Amino acid sequence: MAERPVTLRLPNCADTSAVAVVVERALPSRALRAGVALAGLWGAGLVCVFIPVLHFVLVPTLAILGPVIAVLRLTERVSLVEVRGACPRCLVARRFEASGRFKDGRALHCDGCGNDIDVRVDAMVRPVTSATS
Ligand SMILES: [Zn+2]
Repeated sequence: MAERPVTLRLPNCADTSAVAVVVERALPSRALRAGVALAGLWGAGLVCVFIPVLHFVLVPTLAILGPVIAVLRLTERVSLVEVRGACPRCLVARRFEASGRFKDGRALHCDGCGNDIDVRVDAMVRPVTSATS
């Protein structure tokens, strides 16, 4: 796991700085996650063949969803685990649990004030997107 500085932004509030905990995944790790997702969804689709009536909806949905989720997992180079910092409105230091792709403009929910905070990746440390690995 690695840490990256980010800025938490909320309209009509002063920005606060925070630290994002991220997991950087190499191609073998991403391929494994993609394969597990594809196998799981297609396996569930196979099981759903035996459910009367619902199989008309579930099997095609899971068959299409499998490759879509696999491609999303395969292209997720950096995953966000959590963000530690002060909410711009509450000004209370918190840990914001998160999951999924780490990218500029992600929204985090503050349990204290109920607002959705924008996570801005600082320009100097924005992750490099290249065609390799
Ligand atoms: Zn808040």
